[in-house]
Amino acid sequence: MMILLMGPQGAGKGTQGERLAEQLGYPLIGAGALLRDEIATASELGVRLRAIMDAGELVSPDIITDILQRRLQQPDAAAGVVIDGYPRDPEQLRLMFERFVPEMVIVLDLDDQTAVDRLGGRWMCPQGHIYNEQTRPPQTTGVCDEDGEALFQRSDDTETAIRKRLQIYHADTAPLIAEMQTHGIQIEHVDASRSIEDVWEDVSALVR
Ligand code: AMP
Repeated sequence: MMILLMGPQGAGKGTQGERLAEQLGYPLIGAGALLRDEIATASELGVRLRAIMDAGELVSPDIITDILQRRLQQPDAAAGVVIDGYPRDPEQLRLMFERFVPEMVIVLDLDDQTAVDRLGGRWMCPQGHIYNEQTRPPQTTGVCDEDGEALFQRSDDTETAIRKRLQIYHADTAPLIAEMQTHGIQIEHVDASRSIEDVWEDVSALVR
């Protein structure tokens, strides 16, 4: 089963996606995480991607769709996947329908101010574990509870880039939800302004 997680930045797609993927035994595939992996290789493509992402802009639909499709062909994705952060604009939606079709879309709804507040306090571990100064602080400041690695803040979690990313979400990404519904895909909305546990209760009930 292919499940898409949609919602504005800061809604908790990564956090809820981690749990959902674990519950289902599927890999969590984050579009942004795949791009950050490419950046980490310091390839020529990675250098270009970093400049686009730090500005809060979207990378081209062909690039992200190709990278994602390659990931979906890995053996661990055969039974099902949870995808976070794709599609984000009409061209990606068109390419998606040509290549793969999700069964369910879970939309995590959140207002912009809460999103900005949450992302400004977000800390990541190199393995992808996510913390937040207000809602999910690590036991020791700056250190991952799970693997002891040093936490860092994403270079695109600046207020300017966050506002730009939210603007793109509302203009380009949110309208895709209604379009997917017209294609018969199951769409489920969850109020993501609540605690991680409360949101998880609703998200996990959708796949039980
Ligand atoms: P995220 O980790 O989902 O917040 O994504 C971080 C950044 O990666 C975005 O601001 C974009 O620059 C880029 N990105 C992630 N997913 C996509 C996508 N589906 N299409 C284009 N760019 C993307």
